[in-house]
Amino acid sequence: NTVLAGHGLVKKYGSTTALSGVDVEVGERDSLAIMGPSGSGKSTLLHTLAGIVRPDGGQVLLRGERIDKLGENRLSALRRKRFGFVFQFGQLLPELPAEENVALPLMLEGMPRGQAVERARRWFAPLGLDGLERRRPGQLSGGQAQRVAIARALAVEPDVVFADEPTGALDQTTSTEVIRLLTSVTREQGAALVMVTHDADVAAHCDRVLQVRDGRISNHTQYTVA
Ligand code: ADP
Ligand code: ADP
Repeated sequence: NTVLAGHGLVKKYGSTTALSGVDVEVGERDSLAIMGPSGSGKSTLLHTLAGIVRPDGGQVLLRGERIDKLGENRLSALRRKRFGFVFQFGQLLPELPAEENVALPLMLEGMPRGQAVERARRWFAPLGLDGLERRRPGQLSGGQAQRVAIARALAVEPDVVFADEPTGALDQTTSTEVIRLLTSVTREQGAALVMVTHDADVAAHCDRVLQVRDGRISNHTQYTVA
C-alpha cells in the first residue's frame, strides 16, 4: 500500500549536491518525519517528493506512477488535487473567514462556493475549531490558525499531506496539540504524512523518523509497527 515513493533521488544546485541518492517510501496512514541539521537536504527532499523541485536523478512515484517527468501544468494540477500542504505560518488569506480559507482548494477544483464551504465546515469539529468558522486569520491564535491550515490541507482529501515545520512558530503546549491533531486526522482520512521538523518531540508523533545528513539518509527509526 505504498502511496508515495522516491527512488535514488539526486538533486544538485551547481556544485552543491543537496540529495545524493535518497530512497524513501510512505504508505496509507503512514507518517514520516524528516530530521537533520540545517543544510542537510530536508527541504529539498520534501519539495522533490511534493513535485515542487525536479530531481536530477531518480524517480518519484505516486501510487506506482511516475510524476517527476510530468509537464508543469499536469504536475501543478496533481499537486492541487492529490497533495495537501501545511507550512510554518502565513499560509491563510487574511481577508477571508476561516471556513472560506478551507473551502478555497475545493473551489479551485471547480466546486461551487456554497457546497465547498459546507464541506469545509465538516473539518472544524474534528480539529477542535467549532464556532470559529467565520473568524478571520487575524482573530485566531497561532494554534487555531495552524489547525485551520490543516483543515485546508485535508479539504481535497489528498493522498499525501506535506508539512514543513508545521509547529515551528508555536510554543511547546500548542505544538503538541497541533501535531497530535495533524497526525490523527491525517491518518483517519487515510492519507500519508511527510513532515520536516527540527523538534524531536514533534517527530516522535510520527510512525517513522528519517535522519538526513549531507543529502543522504543516515538513520531510519521506526516507532510503531503497523
Ligand atoms: P535543509 O532543509 O536541511 O536546511 P535544504 O534542502 O534547504 O536543506 O538545502 C540543502 C543544500 O542545498 C544546502 O546546501 C542549500 O544551500 C542548497 N540549496 C537548497 N535549495 C537551493 C537552491 N534553490 N539553490 C541553490 N542551493 C540550494
Ligand atoms: P528551510 O528553513 O525550510 O530549510 P530555507 O530558508 O533554507 O528553508 O530555504 C528557503 C528556500 O530557499 C527554499 O525553497 C530553498 O530551496 C531555497 N534555498 C535554500 N538554500 C538556498 C541557496 N543556497 N540558494 C538559493 N536558494 C536556496
